[in-house]
Amino acid sequence: MRADFIIVGQGLAGSLLAAALQRRGRSVVVVDDGWRSAASKVAAGLMTPLTGRRFTLTPDYPALFRAAADTLSAAGALRLSGVYRMFVDEEQRGRGLARAVDASCAPFIESVTNGGGELHPALDDPFGGVLMKGAWADLPGLMSRQREALRRTDSLLEDSFDPDSFGHGSSGVTWKGLAAHGVVFCDGYRAALRGPFKDLGWQPAKGDALTLTSDAPAPPFILNREGWALHLGDGTWRTGTNWEWAALDEVPADAQRDKLLGRFRGFFNRPVRTDVSLHLAGVRPCTADSRPYLGTHPALPHVHLFNGLGPRGTVWGPATSELMAEHLHAGAPIPPDLDLRRALPC
Ligand SMILES: Cc1cc2nc3c(=O)[nH]c(=O)nc-3n(C[C@H](O)[C@H](O)[C@H](O)COP(=O)(O)OP(=O)(O)OC[C@H]3O[C@@H](n4cnc5c(N)ncnc54)[C@H](O)[C@@H]3O)c2cc1C
Repeated sequence: MRADFIIVGQGLAGSLLAAALQRRGRSVVVVDDGWRSAASKVAAGLMTPLTGRRFTLTPDYPALFRAAADTLSAAGALRLSGVYRMFVDEEQRGRGLARAVDASCAPFIESVTNGGGELHPALDDPFGGVLMKGAWADLPGLMSRQREALRRTDSLLEDSFDPDSFGHGSSGVTWKGLAAHGVVFCDGYRAALRGPFKDLGWQPAKGDALTLTSDAPAPPFILNREGWALHLGDGTWRTGTNWEWAALDEVPADAQRDKLLGRFRGFFNRPVRTDVSLHLAGVRPCTADSRPYLGTHPALPHVHLFNGLGPRGTVWGPATSELMAEHLHAGAPIPPDLDLRRALPC
């Protein structure tokens, strides 16, 4: 069997890259081991313009969001939605008010509230908040449609690819009777643990997320305050998350579950019932400088990486998958700030 490229991993990165290569007429075989708590299966896929405790808009966001909106809506996965970021204190409120009149942030801001349930009577938002123009991506839908499409064209292998034992030479790579021009690792945070790219500067970070049913009133926007809650309809919610750098075991922790439930209940000014149906923990493939790693191994010309989408895979993935596909297809250079060579050990 022959293909232009073997792609290791069918998370968000592998799914987007496979589609981008196929659009360019290239053949792929995607090898995926169906890991239950891959980051793309744990994530809510939120796209929030202003983020972090400092409530900042990164300079890349507008262009990345435009590319993401195009790709994800063509794939039927884009869900435009407001995101209501509730302030935790007066200091954050002051910062939020300043951002609202900042020319670069203003296009992403719908309104600023004084709190007290101004946007929705059931919300507990004593310091008010900012309603932003955001979105979320239906990642399970995107990945399952892509998986079916790959299966239909015999382009999916449900198997585990051992990154330390495949053949590579001057003309390409081989693995289990499959020959290809190149292999691209889209294997998420596990690239940090083994294989040809493990020595790049990785900073993987674990996070938990819950799916639950609740009688909480559902406002028509995503709730956000040191975590998020996304209403999926019919009383079903997803809520998360936390950051943990020491234990990368993908084991959901009871303490985190309790913390997430407490935070969820705290969004509302009345008691709400919560019944958890699913608790997963995944690991974000974060990098030392918070930018993805794209490109080709410096000593192995047929071995490539498309990874490091970090905590904002839905924002970064669509634009960077096009850059990576063009690199593989036509040898286009990778922009230096995304090229994995910036992170090679000295
Ligand atoms: C709790 C949490 C919340 C998040 N929330 C958001 C959010 O709201 N918005 C956002 O944009 N991003 C979010 N993220 C980040 C986002 O999930 C990631 O950026 C993105 O999903 C990474 O995709 P990936 O394809 O690189 O990795 P993964 O999704 O981990 O996919 C890797 C795939 O490779 C497969 N694989 C690995 N090794 C092998 C092998 N040897 N052989 C075969 N298959 C293999 C795995 O099974 C998996 O399918 C969140 C992440 C977490 C953990």
